[in-house]
Amino acid sequence: MGEREVAHDPDCLFCKIVQGQIPSRKVHEDEQVYVFHDIHPWAPVHFLMVPKQHIPSFAQLGPEHAGLMGHMMTLAPRLALQEGCRPYPEGGFRIVSNTGAEGGQEVHHLHVHVMGGPRPWLRG
Ligand code: 5GP
Ligand code: ZN
Repeated sequence: MGEREVAHDPDCLFCKIVQGQIPSRKVHEDEQVYVFHDIHPWAPVHFLMVPKQHIPSFAQLGPEHAGLMGHMMTLAPRLALQEGCRPYPEGGFRIVSNTGAEGGQEVHHLHVHVMGGPRPWLRG
């Protein structure tokens, strides 16, 4: 599915970032996902991976999203190295996805935080 057929929510911050309506520092883009640096990084490396289509959170995922999520999660380690995380096991990275109010989610467009780099980190 091309970008033009992807469903966006006009009121969603990350949909606006995906569409380039709000600027971001891009890490990676392909047909299914958009990856960009977090504006308030907790760690020396901190980027966000989002599906281009608007999915509010992990809570809405079903079997139809297995390909998309498999793609996103297998892309994460490659991009972590590309962005400066040292290799496993000395280096590595942390993957976090906040889901819902009690999960600490602030932006309601599914996203995965990928954080890494030398410690100490600002948070986490
Ligand atoms: P959440 O708490 O929903 O898991 O995380 C949302 C993340 O989005 C936060 O880490 C926050 O710094 C980041 N963020 C919020 N607004 C923007 C923005 O306009 N641009 C970028 N690049 N990141 C943002
Ligand atoms: Zn969205």
